[in-house]
Amino acid sequence: MAKYNHLKGIPELPDSPNIKKKRPKSVAVVDEDNCTGCQACVPFCPVDCIESVPKEKYGIPIPPVQIRFDECIGCVVCARVCTKMTWDAIRMIDTDTFEDLYGMKIN
Ligand code: SF4
Ligand code: SF4
Repeated sequence: MAKYNHLKGIPELPDSPNIKKKRPKSVAVVDEDNCTGCQACVPFCPVDCIESVPKEKYGIPIPPVQIRFDECIGCVVCARVCTKMTWDAIRMIDTDTFEDLYGMKIN
């Protein structure tokens, strides 16, 4: 429809969201007490799984970030970015250890 021609550059959404092909060796975990919420790490995540903690949790204007663990592929990029550019607030945790600590299953 000509009416929507200006939207032509927008790609079609996939039928299903990206699924990880294999279990990652490690998972990124943010130390929320050390994270400034600067979001420098966010655009570097190849699977876009870093988001702000809901504002209500701390009641501060700029909350820290958190990782959607089940989507993290363990690439370590965010941890490197945070270490080099800001506060070193991200730790990579071995997946087995992560599951024991957090009682979650990572696929
Ligand atoms: S770069 Fe580090 S300090 Fe900044 S939002 Fe990410 S984890 Fe937090
Ligand atoms: S380790 Fe990689 S995939 Fe996981 S949150 Fe960090 S940048 Fe994203």
